[in-house]
Amino acid sequence: MTLESPALPQSRHLATAIPGPRSTELHREREAHVSSGFGVTIPVFVNRAEGGILEDVDGNRLVDLASGIAVTSVGAANKHVQAQVAAQMERFTHTCFMVTEYDSFTKVAAWLNARVPGDFEKRTALFSTGAEAVENAIKIARSATGRERVLVFDDAYHGRSLLTMAMTAKENPYKLNFGPFPGGVFRAPTAGRLWNRRGDTDAAVTALRGVEALLQDHGPETFAAMVIEPIQGEGGFLVPAPGFLSGLREIADRHGIVLVIDEIQAGMGRTGKLFASEYEAVAGDLTLTAKALGGGLPLSAVTGRAELMNAVHTGGLGGTYAGNPVACAAALGVFEAFEDGTLLANALQIEAAARAVLEPLLAEVDTVVDVRGRGAMLAVEFADPETFAPRADVAAAVAAACHAQGVLVLVCGTHGNVIRLLPPLVIGADLLRDGLAVLRAAIVSATNPGTGVEPHTAVATDPDGALAAAH
Ligand SMILES: *Cc1c(COP(=O)(O)O)cnc(C)c1O
Repeated sequence: MTLESPALPQSRHLATAIPGPRSTELHREREAHVSSGFGVTIPVFVNRAEGGILEDVDGNRLVDLASGIAVTSVGAANKHVQAQVAAQMERFTHTCFMVTEYDSFTKVAAWLNARVPGDFEKRTALFSTGAEAVENAIKIARSATGRERVLVFDDAYHGRSLLTMAMTAKENPYKLNFGPFPGGVFRAPTAGRLWNRRGDTDAAVTALRGVEALLQDHGPETFAAMVIEPIQGEGGFLVPAPGFLSGLREIADRHGIVLVIDEIQAGMGRTGKLFASEYEAVAGDLTLTAKALGGGLPLSAVTGRAELMNAVHTGGLGGTYAGNPVACAAALGVFEAFEDGTLLANALQIEAAARAVLEPLLAEVDTVVDVRGRGAMLAVEFADPETFAPRADVAAAVAAACHAQGVLVLVCGTHGNVIRLLPPLVIGADLLRDGLAVLRAAIVSATNPGTGVEPHTAVATDPDGALAAAH
């Protein structure tokens, strides 16, 4: 794995407890000014970030296994992104693409049109956030089909706007007290979690039968779109049962429904291919990207069949900041970073390194019931070994132990019982190994209290020995 001469040392370092005194002070200030409607994974304020490291305001260096939720895949200080953004900042920050044009918008569209799965002529529309891409895909599908309804799936996550909340499955925190939601959204089954552990070889067939039954109940000719994530992200890093996505493709074709593939979390190289749907050899009629697309700047895209994308009346799509020039420049930097194939190879190396550490836990720790994912999008699920009842308490304890030791992991899953790993694709091999060792120890100790490492005693896994000096 390569990293261009990082200025920030690529090693974990605990100078203080996590969070440190300066972060604690800033967090107190935040509480006086910022809506408490925003949660936070760890109340740590970041000073710098680069490669696989987040350095906080107390001088701690955390191992980043989150990438700001799958956004900084090329690193939070990528040289290509920085150069493109700096050059654009010199020229202008904004014109509004609906007022006067700039070529970087076209270049981003052309890059996506050439690489998004689907052997057909494509067009792209750019927006700012993932939720906006989802909303616009529904606008396009409705306009093109003259139909209204939208089919979504169990465990889906599509965003926090009113329509995308309706499309998202999980109630708390995303939807609680925020209704009523737009109508016309119907939820169908998937193979769900643990179909592989249950040895359910009919998982895809059963789920597809459920999808077809739901469509028949409501009239398939009333559905404009079905929207699916190629690996469900917030829902728990659920890899579709083999044949499920291709089955959806067949159902969509048979009923004239627009298949929308939401690659917002799984796409842009995260899984070791540019798009996770490539693993299933399925092409959406519309494919959505965001998160890693803008390399940390807000940019999202709907890419798909030219006849759908051009079915909307002129002026019907847009947004003041849609495809902002600085965000487009950042995306061009992201594309450069992916050019030589190293980052895709890194994603697969990250998977191999993580599986080597995590898969043995399936036999060693009884509440570890699944290790799954693709490339640098991997998860560990915790549940009762007999009943598979979710163990959110274990996931929370593991996350807390990792955070105390300076390793940033995220929890996900409809039941909150999954630890997910989304490291930047530029993370160094040694740093990744260190982060995984901390995660492994946290999982062992959360399950067998007293046998694992205690918080703040991970001297042996601190590769530069700085932790010992700090205590
Ligand atoms: C994050 C996410 C979204 C929403 O993106 P925002 O930029 O937060 O609006 C939509 N779909 C999926 C699969 C996501 O992971």
